[in-house]
Amino acid sequence: MTQDYRVLLYYQYVPIENGDLFAQTHLAACKAIGITGRILVADEGINGTVCGTFEQTEAYINMMHEDPRFATTIFKIDLSDTNSFKKMHVRYKKELVNLNLEDDINPLELTGAYLSPKEFKEAMLDDNTVVIDARNDYEFDLGHFRGAVRPDIRNFRELPQWMRDHKEEFLEKRVLTYCTGGIRCEKFSGWLVREGFKDVGQLHGGIATYGKDPEVRGDLWDGKMYVFDSRIAVPINQNETVIVGKDWFDGTPCERYINCGNPECNRQIFASEANEAKYLGGCEHDCRVHPNNRYVISHQLTQDDILSRLMAIGEVVTQ
Ligand SMILES: [Zn+2]
Repeated sequence: MTQDYRVLLYYQYVPIENGDLFAQTHLAACKAIGITGRILVADEGINGTVCGTFEQTEAYINMMHEDPRFATTIFKIDLSDTNSFKKMHVRYKKELVNLNLEDDINPLELTGAYLSPKEFKEAMLDDNTVVIDARNDYEFDLGHFRGAVRPDIRNFRELPQWMRDHKEEFLEKRVLTYCTGGIRCEKFSGWLVREGFKDVGQLHGGIATYGKDPEVRGDLWDGKMYVFDSRIAVPINQNETVIVGKDWFDGTPCERYINCGNPECNRQIFASEANEAKYLGGCEHDCRVHPNNRYVISHQLTQDDILSRLMAIGEVVTQ
């Protein structure tokens, strides 16, 4: 465990003109520094996760802070044993966060109240509070705040419609939202305010900040935090360890992520090594017997191997 690398997570809502061109020059600058990662540039701002040595990440922070648009950008810093990315990508997109709105929210003009980790924790403990997880379902399934609502959606952009469908339930409540680093809640909480929800709060700096706060120490967080780099699962609660992930095949506690072996499915599931082998790395029968099943190919399984495993799980019956 040398922890020679640092991972920076940051975002800034600020108008960026000629975002396309900005993305190109920013990519060149990142490559010159030598960092790796993924950065999204949009007309409404920037969002990135980058990784490098201490010197490289310092150089990147300094370069950003010299630009008046990013002079106050907060960089959340994690240590890492390895470089979390293989390459450097800077992409231009229309928007940083897509809530599928006809009339998009500008968080610089309208957003929910910012709650510090301590304020957020206290507010969570109040009976009249409802906590909405503003992430995708597979992120929730790895870890979430105790008692948080898991909206029945696959993707974050379906959240506004889901909230509209449940408006009656939450209208008289204090509504709190949280996400990984805070960027999604900036927009989503603004939308909640515009929709007429009365008392809307967002976790400032997101779960990443909450987990590092010396006072709350990640309290009331169960499981791990999903991150979009090679680390995948990051611990948050420093006081106790609860596993909420469940093995796709047998429901036992599990935090080991795999992608379904069928490249056309690719579904992200939790599975132990034993169950991955038992079920040929496929999330369902059709994936297990798919001709391009990556598990079967990489383990050089023969037709006999496949048949005997399928028989063992009752998916092939011999006469
Ligand atoms: Zn599958």
